[in-house]
Amino acid sequence: MIYNINEKGYYGDFGGAYIPEMLYPNVEELRQNYLKIMAEPSFQEEFNALLKDYVGRPSPLYFAKRLSAKYNTKIYLKREDLNHTGAHKINNTIGQILMAKRLGKHRVIAETGAGQHGVATATVCALMGIECIVYMGEIDIARQAPNVARMKMLGAKVVPALSGSRTLKDATNEAIRDWINNPIDTHYIIGSVVGPHPYPDMVARFQAVVSEEIQWQLKEKEGTNKPDYVVACVGGGSNAAGAFYHYLEDTDVKLIAVEAAGKGIHSGESAATSVLGKEGIIHGSKTLLMQTKDGQITEPYSISAGLDYPGVGPMHAHLYTSGRAQFMSITDDEAMTAGLELSQLEGIIPAIETSHSLAIFNEKKFKPTDIVVINLSGRGDKDLQNYIDYFKL
Ligand SMILES: *Cc1c(COP(=O)(O)O)cnc(C)c1O
Repeated sequence: MIYNINEKGYYGDFGGAYIPEMLYPNVEELRQNYLKIMAEPSFQEEFNALLKDYVGRPSPLYFAKRLSAKYNTKIYLKREDLNHTGAHKINNTIGQILMAKRLGKHRVIAETGAGQHGVATATVCALMGIECIVYMGEIDIARQAPNVARMKMLGAKVVPALSGSRTLKDATNEAIRDWINNPIDTHYIIGSVVGPHPYPDMVARFQAVVSEEIQWQLKEKEGTNKPDYVVACVGGGSNAAGAFYHYLEDTDVKLIAVEAAGKGIHSGESAATSVLGKEGIIHGSKTLLMQTKDGQITEPYSISAGLDYPGVGPMHAHLYTSGRAQFMSITDDEAMTAGLELSQLEGIIPAIETSHSLAIFNEKKFKPTDIVVINLSGRGDKDLQNYIDYFKL
C-alpha cells in the first residue's frame, strides 16, 4: 500500500481534479510546473532562507516534562506556534508566493474563514510586494474583526462574499470566480491540503518541513529519528500532513489524526468529517465530506474556527479508510480543558485547534517508554477571549 500521492494525483481512491472546464488552464499550468519549480536549486535556496530568517525555523522540538509526568509517557511538542504569524500556515504561503513569482503572476487571491489563512497570505504578499485580494464571507468578516484589521494593515483588500450562508464556502466560490476571470496574471493560494490536484500535494510538500525537522531533532534528543506516535489536529489537514509526511510509509510510526467532535459526534453539531463523512466532491477533489442523503454539504460546527470545515483533504480520507492513521474525535469541552491544562502545566497557551490534539491523553493510554510527538499547530493569542468566556476567568 502506498499512502502518499500517486502519479495520477490520487491518494488511494481520493483526490484528482474535478473542476469546471474554465478552470482547467489555470490548474493545468500549475500541475505541469510545480514539481519542476520546487526542485530548482534557486527555489529551494530562497524557500529555506525565508523559512529560517523570516518564519524563524527550525521550530523547537520541546520535551514537555510536566505534561509527560502527568500522563506517564514521553511527550514532545513541535512548536509551530512560535512561527511568525503564530501557526504552521505561513510555511505554505511562503512556498506558494515563491511559486506564484516563478509562474510570473503578480496578483494573488485567497479565501479565508476564520482569517488565519488570509493573514498568512496577506503577510507574504506584503513581503513580496504583490497585490492581494482575500475573499471572506460577510458573516465571518463581522465575527473575525481582529484578523480583518490585520489583513488591511498588511495592505490586502478584503472582499465580502454576500451570497449563500456568507461564510467560507461562499468565499471559496467568489475566489474561484475571480480565478476564472483572471487566468493569466493571478495565483490562487489555497490554505490547506484541499482543492484539486496538485494543491493537496503541493501544500503537503511545503508543510513537510515539519516532519523533516522532527526527524533530526528527535535523533539529537532520543538517539532515534522515529517517534512511536505523531499526533496532529485536522481541519483541512495541512499541519497533520506536514507532521506525518516523512513517516507516511514507515508503519513503525503510528499516526493519530484528531478531529473536532463539537458538541458530540452525533449531536448534529460537529466537524468529525472522516467518521461522519461519505465520499463526495468538494472544492475540486474527491474525498470524505459531511453531507445529507441528497449530497448537500452539511454545515460543520466546532468551537475552533480552524477545524470548522465540512471535508478533509484526500490524503486524510485515504489515511482513514486504509487504517494507516487512527482518527480520534474530541469535543469542544475536552479541547478547552486540555488547552487550559497545557497553559498551566507548561506555560504555553495553545490555539483551540491544537488543544484538540492535547485532549487525547484522557482517552488513550500510552506506555511510559512511548515517544509521542504532538504538532503544536498554533498559539492561543487569537483565542484568548474564547478561553476567558468559556472558563469565566
Ligand atoms: C488553520 C489551523 C488549523 C487547521 O488547518 P489544517 O489545514 O488542518 O492544519 C489547525 N491549527 C491552527 C493553529 C490553525 O490555524
